[in-house]
Amino acid sequence: MSKDKIEDLNELGAKLIKAELLGDDELAASLRERLENARKASELTKPEPSASTSRKPQNYPREKFHKHKNHRYDNEEAKMFKRNYKNDEYDDLNYDDFSVTSSKKLKNEFVHQTDQKFAQNKEKEEKKSAENCSYCFDSTQKHLVISIGKHCYLCLPNSESIVDGSCMIVPMSHCYSSVTCDEDVWQEIDRYKKALVEMFDKRRCECVFYEMYTNENKYGHMVIQCVPLDMNVSNLAPIYFKKAIIESESEWSTNKKLIELKDKTIRSTLPKNVPYFTVSFGSENGFAHIIEKNEAYPAHFAKEIIAGIIDLDPMVWMRPRKESFGQLSKKVIEFSKWWKAYEFNKN
Ligand SMILES: [Zn+2]
Repeated sequence: MSKDKIEDLNELGAKLIKAELLGDDELAASLRERLENARKASELTKPEPSASTSRKPQNYPREKFHKHKNHRYDNEEAKMFKRNYKNDEYDDLNYDDFSVTSSKKLKNEFVHQTDQKFAQNKEKEEKKSAENCSYCFDSTQKHLVISIGKHCYLCLPNSESIVDGSCMIVPMSHCYSSVTCDEDVWQEIDRYKKALVEMFDKRRCECVFYEMYTNENKYGHMVIQCVPLDMNVSNLAPIYFKKAIIESESEWSTNKKLIELKDKTIRSTLPKNVPYFTVSFGSENGFAHIIEKNEAYPAHFAKEIIAGIIDLDPMVWMRPRKESFGQLSKKVIEFSKWWKAYEFNKN
């Protein structure tokens, strides 16, 4: 077999892996066919093996990569890879990094390079998100803050509330989700939730807490939304949310649609960095749902469901009105009066 032929096979194999990783099925199918033809052609032109030069026919790189059980680019990893790399960034990688003849050493180098690329990309996005973040405590709107803890704060939204008493529990430092935040943060979120449940219970309301961690906002600041529902309708909330989550199923879903948390928490149930939506009711743990890559999970998903429960004008959740400083102050003063007896941070 000529050297040119070997390189053709290698290059085709490399392109095939790239097409598979990027999910370009059409290109992958055509490359697979070309590779197969090239391999057959190379077999035909191959001289009879002598005892000293006998080699197995060239394997596809795909087989080499995929047969390796612990290789980082198994299906799940590849999915993550695709989510985290934009095509133009991926194009910086050299095809030769996938070379069949490159053997284990080159393969390791490729993994090392992509690790580096992944880390650089992640760092860049993280930095950008943290720099422009309006939820990090230093840059948040202080006139909306009700309570300041050691790791989190409690604040009100800066526009019309979907329901009176709607509020947010927010970590003071930049972190992405309940699953990835520090244990101290998680513990204090829990403390705020318990205090809010108790406070709203006295006001004949039950809290709906929800959090959305999406692919689009992977490095955004986590926020736990709290919406108190009147006890006349709050028993409908688990039914409405369960139905909406189940109905959000797409034909492409591979994960279980509805995860009933029961005695488990989101933190102990989901792996890190997987996008999700979670909702809980009062002190119950509620549900979780893994948001798949092709799934449309709008930011207002929870608000739309709550609006259905309380029969709210869609404009309130679709385009909440901006409120004046005076209106916001009034809201903050009112909430602070309710909160006073439940404040656990003694400054
Ligand atoms: Zn932040």
